[in-house]
Amino acid sequence: MTQLITHNALRPQPVVTAETRTFWDGAARGDLRLRRCTGCGRLAAPGAPRCVGCLGDAFRDETLSGSVVLVGRTVLHLQPLPGRDGPLVIVECAVAEDPRIVLIALDEGDVTENARPGSPFTVIFPATEEGACFATVQP
Ligand SMILES: [Zn+2]
Repeated sequence: MTQLITHNALRPQPVVTAETRTFWDGAARGDLRLRRCTGCGRLAAPGAPRCVGCLGDAFRDETLSGSVVLVGRTVLHLQPLPGRDGPLVIVECAVAEDPRIVLIALDEGDVTENARPGSPFTVIFPATEEGACFATVQP
């Protein structure tokens, strides 16, 4: 019997912590969600235990627009992986609501191939068979 293996099956699944739960819960619903400091109002990057603005540790969850601008792009030419053809395109994207927050996403469709830093994109979270949703970008 032949067993199909998709590239998603090879992906490590996210480890959800108190500091990343907002992000991963939002991703599961297809939303970009981050925590905002209740002390100074600054957004916190996923995983940050404290606010980098005021060192506070009280946050409220916030759903963002998903709008980002391209900061950088890295193309990895790896050995072929089951279910994945071509290079792996990793993009760094600054969140529109606070460009100090830079997210890492995969460019599954190579939509950033001819883009310059500052080009606008939208972060989306396509569902996978395993349920985990990883960030990718679309024009
Ligand atoms: Zn703060």
